Amino acid sequence: MTFDDFQFDYDLMDGLDAMGFNKPTPIQELAIPVILAHKDLIACAQTGTGKTAAYVLPIIDKIIGSNHSHLNTLILAPTRELAVQIDQQVQGFSYYVPVSSIAIYGGGDGAIWDQQKKALKAGADIIIATPGRLISQLASGDIKLDKLEHLILDEADRMLDMGFYDDIVKIISYLPKERQTLLFSATMPPKIRTLAAKILHKPEEISIAISKPAEGILQQAYLTYDAQKIPLLGEIFKQTTYQSVIIFAGTKERVKSLQFELKRIGLKARSFHSDLEQKEREDLMNEFRSRKVQVLIGTDILSRGIDVDGIDLVVNFDVPPDPEDYVHRIGRTARAESKGTAITFINEKDQRRFHAIETLIEKEIPKLPLPTFLGEAPIYSPKTHRPEPKRGFKPKRKS
Ligand code: AMP
Repeated sequence: MTFDDFQFDYDLMDGLDAMGFNKPTPIQELAIPVILAHKDLIACAQTGTGKTAAYVLPIIDKIIGSNHSHLNTLILAPTRELAVQIDQQVQGFSYYVPVSSIAIYGGGDGAIWDQQKKALKAGADIIIATPGRLISQLASGDIKLDKLEHLILDEADRMLDMGFYDDIVKIISYLPKERQTLLFSATMPPKIRTLAAKILHKPEEISIAISKPAEGILQQAYLTYDAQKIPLLGEIFKQTTYQSVIIFAGTKERVKSLQFELKRIGLKARSFHSDLEQKEREDLMNEFRSRKVQVLIGTDILSRGIDVDGIDLVVNFDVPPDPEDYVHRIGRTARAESKGTAITFINEKDQRRFHAIETLIEKEIPKLPLPTFLGEAPIYSPKTHRPEPKRGFKPKRKS
């Protein structure tokens, strides 16, 4: 299948060419015809599969063919990073066509708020918004969404995890009942099903390899004690040259301390966390994209929606607590069918968690031997290593 098969507008095809898109990905092959046929859709697809273009392209094509004098499409996304990236893709595709977009997200100062408000009032074909900020803008009363034709929920599972359920339902109360609704989610827990039943009308369903990492990712792991992790990382960087690396750690405190520990062994890295101002985050991402920054350390906020091609190594310095997060983290590499490596460090306490990941992805990940100078590694025995009991917990005595 090629993009020609969708019979998109010629100028939109020029935008596609300019972005270097030659062949649709599987999610695009499946989703685009459904969206062009004006049907509602539930799509189960992770980031990295090309899901953004899967809904953005047919929507832009439809807007080109309509009389677009009002806010036509609303895309809801969990984080401002994702909202900005979706907006960048929309702008890239619509470079040669008269389709406009704005991103509405939280943070920033009063000037940004006013700027977003003005842009909303002036109107745009596509709004990409985080739910909290859109609710605040809608509450001011002068933005009209009553002629909206398309609603898209991107990373719906993440939005619900972040507590946006009520905001989403509220936003939908401002929209016309007659509309096309598309729901994209990496996972399909029951709460997503409940939301879908409430807001979609006879949806088609498609699913792309649920919770399975992309084929192009070489997954490896090391069993380590905590004290071995930093020298092990140093050794990995010594053995292979990587162009662009993300290191994930569990908390922002850990991210910050890692940056210093890495510096001590001569590894230059920058950290990405929620204490950074929006502008600092954007600047840092741009430096990472342009390879001025080679190694980025972050928490799971980095695992969703950062759209950087050519990341060749992802390191899980700690095993993520949620197996789905593992899939998201390592999905930062090997995007759009390229190759990449994902290495996870597993200490004794994390063995059970890691086993849960292997169960989820139905694959045993090879555990590589530690370099000999690091000494003995823990034995992999996930069934015997129990998580530590919470401090202060005392079993109840039977009276
Ligand atoms: P997404 O899953 O939407 O986050 O997209 C992952 C990455 O793949 C993004 O950098 C897209 O620009 C890229 N991409 C998506 N579809 C295609 C395609 N058909 N050809 C080439 N690159 C693509």
